[in-house]
Amino acid sequence: MALLQLSDPVTKIKGIGEKSAESFYAAGIYTVNGLLHYFPRNYTSLPEATPIREITKEGKRTVYGKIMNTPAMFSSRGKTILSFFVSDGTGRLKVNLFNMPYMRKQIQPGRECYFSGACSFKGTDVLMSQPKFLSKEQYEAECGALSPVYPLRKELSNTKLQKALKEVLPLAGDISEYLPPEVLAGEGLLSIPEAIRLMHFPKTMEDVYAARKRLAFDEFFLFLARMELLKQGPDKIASRYIYPENDARAAADQLITHLPYELTGAQKRTITEIQKDLSSGYCMNRLVQGDVGSGKTVVAFAAALAVVNAGAQAALMAPTEVLAAQHYKDICKMSEDYGLPFRPALLTGSVKASEKKRIKEGIANGEINFMIGTQALIQEDVETQNLALIITDEQHRFGVRQRMELARKGCAPHVLVMSATPIPRTLGLILYGDLDVSLIDELPAKRLPIKNTVVDGSYRTKLYQFILKRVSEGRQAYIICPMVEAGDEECEATEGLANVTDYAEELKQKFPPEVTIDVLHGRMKPAEKNDVMQRFASGETKVLVSTTVVEVGVNVPNATVMMVENAERFGLAQLHQLRGRVGRGEWQSYCMFVSGNEEGEMSKRTQERLKILAETNDGFKIAEEDLKQRGPGDFFGLRQSGLPYFKIADIYTDAEVLKRVKQILTDMIRDNNEHLANLKQALFAKEEMDYIDFHGICL
Ligand code: ADP
Ligand code: MG
Repeated sequence: MALLQLSDPVTKIKGIGEKSAESFYAAGIYTVNGLLHYFPRNYTSLPEATPIREITKEGKRTVYGKIMNTPAMFSSRGKTILSFFVSDGTGRLKVNLFNMPYMRKQIQPGRECYFSGACSFKGTDVLMSQPKFLSKEQYEAECGALSPVYPLRKELSNTKLQKALKEVLPLAGDISEYLPPEVLAGEGLLSIPEAIRLMHFPKTMEDVYAARKRLAFDEFFLFLARMELLKQGPDKIASRYIYPENDARAAADQLITHLPYELTGAQKRTITEIQKDLSSGYCMNRLVQGDVGSGKTVVAFAAALAVVNAGAQAALMAPTEVLAAQHYKDICKMSEDYGLPFRPALLTGSVKASEKKRIKEGIANGEINFMIGTQALIQEDVETQNLALIITDEQHRFGVRQRMELARKGCAPHVLVMSATPIPRTLGLILYGDLDVSLIDELPAKRLPIKNTVVDGSYRTKLYQFILKRVSEGRQAYIICPMVEAGDEECEATEGLANVTDYAEELKQKFPPEVTIDVLHGRMKPAEKNDVMQRFASGETKVLVSTTVVEVGVNVPNATVMMVENAERFGLAQLHQLRGRVGRGEWQSYCMFVSGNEEGEMSKRTQERLKILAETNDGFKIAEEDLKQRGPGDFFGLRQSGLPYFKIADIYTDAEVLKRVKQILTDMIRDNNEHLANLKQALFAKEEMDYIDFHGICL
């Protein structure tokens, strides 16, 4: 057999056929290299066995005991449940298994073994849900060892992944090192193959931290190095799209005079800054940073109008179809109502082939002058006629490469990036080094500050009554849950975690039928998501039960309540983003953060963390505070949505690494280090680009 290579498709790996490759594709793994870089989200270890009597708190436990009875089998909420008792002489444990009727035969009264799973309290019973059954040998082998938890798709089991990983692990040695030995030694960094190995097969958490440090370092390093290298090109790129400031202003005024509100000072200032850029003769490269609800969209539209008015084309890219569709709808309405010269089109992945063809023709011949879309805008081979301005909305989900691809379609266009991600100043300086930044640091007047509350689950009934009251007044509400379906996350105590599917079902029982409830989550098809958002935006749906898909940029001013279940599961910055979905209209808005721990008190730390949200609506302050509160061990589970989005590194928790990287790189450049030349080659080689996917910042 020919030797396996990093770039080989996963089907070349022993034991993976066409069919089983599907589950790898579903997880975004296509090549051997992709598999090696598909990292665990977290790690668990089998806890040491405890006597049942000593289980006094919720959490993962292992128990050695005897099965007491033949299991009872029944159905509840569409699930088959097997229920039985286990005793170890110190106490009794109730065990529930969901949707595993085939286990019935194995549950023999008198059988003794280890049970390991999430424990909670139901009445007087200690309940263990969905435990693993282990023999003595298995227990001894697994106890204390770490097992990785991958961001699993249903079909791709840990076992399957780990088996494939064992096959390909030696190939990690083929990934070339780009860092000089003295940096590796000086920073205490592992080699790349070692880091990859330890991410997948660690013995201790120390292994994981060391591995992660190396990989985070790489992401930052390659990212910043690319920025530096591009900066070494001509300082400013000449643009053939030059729009005299007066013309640009006159164009924007067509829009502004019609708006039902007065622009804030910050919006006006930003628009002026953009107009200066457009008239400068050089390509604009501007980041507009403004908290959620600060009104960035209209600023972007004003910029697009200046370009379109002069006969050129503009493109607006959004990270999700929902958001793209919303922008498209807004721009269509404005064009019609205000008589603006936009001829927009929406190009997303779910547009039908025939329609796509028509749109592409329109873009090529200039009939369409404002294209709005998602990644499809770049992925599809779209020929533009005279693309003068590219706007990317909400967080830097478009990588450098993607942006370059778009730029290639036009001719060095102006670039405007809009972001609500609050980045502390120190980090911002490193990350945005070469970007011009406009800050929209002012919220529209007449906005009532959002009222916040942080409670535990015992308040839920009251919160529901509150929601019903607001709905009866004509308003709408979001309820956010962390998961799509029960059991989404293996190996964790998922019992107590709210999931949208079940949650919405229960809510339908509790709320009167006229209070329409819809569900939104990331696993739905884009077209379905759009329908749901459309119904919510039109007011047809009153309550939207959703995962964090709504987090980014969605604008439904009539929604005034945001209720977040299991708020402890989210990072502060992310919660702040969620909160930004309300408080967008003239009505008083409310945000209710509910901690998932219903039984005991909310942990003190969670309480403290969430209190910050209740105390301030200032995104920058929250980001800074978040950074202060979180220690280096906090990176799992609490990933900030704050972008730039790196796969492993997190600009908040790894702020220190980021600073080190910046320093090392600066030294290298100052010394005109030969490594920089190697790096340049490596960075622009296709393989390396794939190795680390640059979800970068605009360059
Ligand atoms: P974001 O900055 O989060 O993208 P949007 O652009 O979506 O915010 O604006 C949020 C809401 O505020 C929209 O409904 C928009 O029409 C409205 N809006 C924008 N600017 C103003 C303003 N100066 N005064 C009042 N409302 C505004
Ligand atoms: Mg927005």
